Amino acid sequence: MKCRRMLTTSLRSPTKLHLLRLLRRPLQVVATDGVRAMMESALTARDRVGVQDFVLLENYTSEAAFIENLRKRFKENLIYTYIGSVLVSVNPYKDLEIYTKNHMERYRGVNFYEVSPHIYAVADNAYRSMRTERKDQCILISGESGAGKTEASKKILQYYAVTCPASDQVQTVKDRLLQSNPVLEAFGNAKTLRNDNSSRFGKYMDIQFDFKGAPVGGHIINYLLEKSRVVHQNHGERNFHIFYQLIEGGEEDLLRRLGLERNPQQYQYLVKVRPPLFVCVCVRVCVFSAVLQGNCPKVSSINDRSDWKVVRKALSVIGFNEDDVEELLNIIASVLHLGNVQYGGEDGTACITSDTQIKYLARLMSPLNLEQASSARDALSKAVYGRTFTWLVNKINTSLAYKDDSQKSYSVIGLLDIYGFEVFQNNSFEQFCINYCNEKLQQLFIELTLKSEQDEYEAEGITWEPVQYFNNKIICDLVEEKFKGIISILDEECLRPGDASDFTFLEKLESTVGGHPHFVTHKLADPKTRKVMGREEFRLLHYAGEVNYNVNGFLDKNNDLLFRNLKEVMCMSENKILTQCFDREELSDKKRPDTAATQFKSSLAKLMEILMSKEPSYVRCIKPNDSKQSGRFDDVLIRHQVKYLGLMENLRVRRAGFAYRRRYEVFLQRYKSLCPETWPNWQGRLAEGVSTLVKHMGYKPEEYKMGRSKIFIRFPKTLFATEDALETR
Ligand code: ADP
Ligand code: MG
Repeated sequence: MKCRRMLTTSLRSPTKLHLLRLLRRPLQVVATDGVRAMMESALTARDRVGVQDFVLLENYTSEAAFIENLRKRFKENLIYTYIGSVLVSVNPYKDLEIYTKNHMERYRGVNFYEVSPHIYAVADNAYRSMRTERKDQCILISGESGAGKTEASKKILQYYAVTCPASDQVQTVKDRLLQSNPVLEAFGNAKTLRNDNSSRFGKYMDIQFDFKGAPVGGHIINYLLEKSRVVHQNHGERNFHIFYQLIEGGEEDLLRRLGLERNPQQYQYLVKVRPPLFVCVCVRVCVFSAVLQGNCPKVSSINDRSDWKVVRKALSVIGFNEDDVEELLNIIASVLHLGNVQYGGEDGTACITSDTQIKYLARLMSPLNLEQASSARDALSKAVYGRTFTWLVNKINTSLAYKDDSQKSYSVIGLLDIYGFEVFQNNSFEQFCINYCNEKLQQLFIELTLKSEQDEYEAEGITWEPVQYFNNKIICDLVEEKFKGIISILDEECLRPGDASDFTFLEKLESTVGGHPHFVTHKLADPKTRKVMGREEFRLLHYAGEVNYNVNGFLDKNNDLLFRNLKEVMCMSENKILTQCFDREELSDKKRPDTAATQFKSSLAKLMEILMSKEPSYVRCIKPNDSKQSGRFDDVLIRHQVKYLGLMENLRVRRAGFAYRRRYEVFLQRYKSLCPETWPNWQGRLAEGVSTLVKHMGYKPEEYKMGRSKIFIRFPKTLFATEDALETR
């Protein structure tokens, strides 16, 4: 009555959950009523929790079945499910008791498939592969804003901090790795409509481990900070957290030194309700956004005052001394003051009307009209903030750098927490870059997933059966190809003197890539598409779907220019951070700096190289609803994400050959009781034991293949039948 024992153990038992999830076929039991009742309750439980690996879905091509499985599990607070070795995670929007030290222990050193899906299993698996195979690893976390990427990366980091061996020196590194998060979040995260703590930059973090498996260092690379947020936020959104933390939490004398008031309403960059004059000037920018932006200083889920304390402490753990902190805060305060510089003037030329006296600004900006003056001021604020952020990342890197020169070799686990595919009502240059990044990651994903499948087949001596899939290289080329890709054309317009504008850029796109199957504009579109496209838009047919991009602002954002005089002034600053951010060499450099898109393109190329050299694991995060609520599973929203994340394709590739594979010893251990010749112990070669067992079970030759160390089973139903047999024995 092994079966009774199993079914009556606590529901939390991973073995039982594993079994219940594996069971898919109605049981054809010839059993007593008692056993039948028990089976039925097991079945109800199984129906309730779904399968823990999508490859075990009977109808694996059905999106509806996929989503139904996610829903079942989500309702049971089972937020994690696999597609093979890819982890799909649904944000629960509530604290689940699944991240305790006990849980960490449960996943430590345990085979991926022996326990229920968890982010710790992914972390542990990567760690063990790094240790045993001596191969660098990376964990790629993707998903749209608010889906739980950053939380997932923090959980992985915590897992390593708790479970990896430590000495005093290692403890310092662990603390610094953990404390880099609140600092980067203060300066790089903000409240948006989608996420109260939204990362406004992409992040790749290497954790370096020594030969004992202890974390000994780290390195962070940041991508494309959304600098525009410093000067402008949409209604209901906020500027970066640090501004509010400083104002709410900063000590009285600190605020006095910085000339700040404890009231965010005082600062244009935080509440941005412009006086009417400004609105008139800004009509071209859009009256609505000017009046309605930001103005959301308090957020119920955020305590700026206590966060300030956390950040101050974190800064000192990372190794900032009081002077560093003071200089950093001077810059933050300067940006707020700069935002309050106002312009007026009757004849259309700007002069500073506010009493914030920055004489050089007045002198520099007076030949400009009001709009130009404001945008020059904002460009300065953005540049100062953006460069300070990069400086901050470098400073953290210095503090995380591996210090032990005696043993230079270390292994690495990289964590990538980067923006997912974005489609808004109005998509601009930022979405263009972000979605391009996702195309690149998708390309890498397809290549590596297929490659790892192919490698495994090869290693096991099993014939590879080609899989049909959409190769999105064609879209990557459309964006990034030299001379004729969209970025090249954009750069060309940015460099061209004379009448170059966003619209000449659009025209040039039409004449250059107009015939491309993944590119459309209003002019080129068929009548149906034309109805849903503006004249200022181009549409890209991404792997994940169509997106219309409005060309307005593309040239400016790509140029990302700052008046030379302003740069000079910044170089003269006595603030040590600013002098590091604005290098004199930049002024003497005759060569134009790379445009924003080209810089992004090169940083992505480098990222791809880094990732290619590592063995990847994937975490795909899904947001269950748009209202940040627990328990709400919004079908439409989830279907979109399943599509954008390419999960159905992923499943198809994973299922194209064999749904299930297990090492011989694991398989034999589990099922040996089903065959008299393998029970209680098989003495011969493992492969022969498995072969004897499956023949006894009536497996047909087309249902399975025997590899070098693993059995490959083509259909889930074969496996389920074996599981059923185990149950009804
Ligand atoms: P992303 O980085 O994908 O934009 P976050 O990781 O910041 O999203 O998650 C958004 C919010 O969702 C978090 O602030 C937290 O409240 C909630 N959340 C995300 N993942 C979890 C989780 N595993 N458990 C509980 N809450 C979570
Ligand atoms: Mg995030």
